[in-house]
Amino acid sequence: MRIGPAGQEKPAVRLDDTTYIDVSDIASDFDERFFASGGPSLLTEAVAERRRVGAVTSFGDQRIGPPIARPHQILCIGLNYRDHAMETGQAVPDEPIVFNKAPNTLVGPNDTVYIPRGSTKPDWEVELGVVVGRRCRYLADEQEAAAAIAGYVLVNDVSERAFQLERGGQWVKGKSAETFNPCGPHLVTPDEVADVNNLDMWLDVNGVRRQKGSTATMLFGVTYLVHYLSQFMVLEPGDLINTGTPPGVGMGFNPPIWLRPGDVMALGIENLGTQRQVAAAAR
Ligand code: ZN
Repeated sequence: MRIGPAGQEKPAVRLDDTTYIDVSDIASDFDERFFASGGPSLLTEAVAERRRVGAVTSFGDQRIGPPIARPHQILCIGLNYRDHAMETGQAVPDEPIVFNKAPNTLVGPNDTVYIPRGSTKPDWEVELGVVVGRRCRYLADEQEAAAAIAGYVLVNDVSERAFQLERGGQWVKGKSAETFNPCGPHLVTPDEVADVNNLDMWLDVNGVRRQKGSTATMLFGVTYLVHYLSQFMVLEPGDLINTGTPPGVGMGFNPPIWLRPGDVMALGIENLGTQRQVAAAAR
C-alpha cells in the first residue's frame, strides 16, 4: 500500500484492516525501480521481523493512496467480458481492444472522482488491474507472462461516454480526465490469489448494485493479455493494465444511468479490497 497525503504517500505493507508496517526506509516508492529490482520479495523478511518486534502502525484516519507510484503507462482492454460487449451494443472482439489512459488519472481508492467540464455521460467500470513486474518485450508464451506479473489491484476505470464514443477518434478522450483511475487499496502479489481468473467483482452506486460479475467470464485472460501486449509494445515494471469490466455500466441500462455530483460509488473484487468514491463536478 501507499499511505499519506496525495503526492507524499509512503510505502507500507498491510497487515489487516486496521494496521500496517511502514517500509519507507526500505523502498523509497513502489515505482519502476522497485518492481524492476524484485521489490515485493525483498520486503518479505523485513516485514516478518518488524511484525515480530511489534513495529506496527494503525491506519487511523490517514488517506490511502494508489498502491503504486504513477506508472509509465496505463493500458486498458475494451469489451473483455462477453456480456458487457453485448450491453454496449458492440461486437465481441476477435482480438483484444487496447487503448491508453493518461497515467496521471491514478488516484487513491477513496478519493473524490471529478466529473469533467462539459460532461454529460460519466460512467463507472469495476476492473481487475494487473501490475507489471519486469520489462516485457516479445514474451515467448503465457508462462513467461505469468512470471512478469508483480500483482493485482482493484481499479475503477471511470469513463465519459460522450467523450469516448461521440467526439471522434480514439477512446482515450473519454478515459483520461483527472481522477478517472481510482486504484487500490492494496496490491496483492500473485501467490496471495488462488485463481485470478475466478474472482467475484461488484460495484454499487448510491447503495444499489449495478455491476456484478466474475473474472471467470473474461474473453481474454490475464496472462494472455500480458503476452499479447508485449508483442506490440514494451511493458515497463510498474505499468498498469486495466483488464476490462463486466456488465452493469451506466450506458448499458435503458434508459442509461449517468453519474451525478454527490453520487457514491462503492466497489470491490474478492481478495483485492474495496473502494468508495464520491462524485463531484470539476470546477
Ligand atoms: Zn474499462
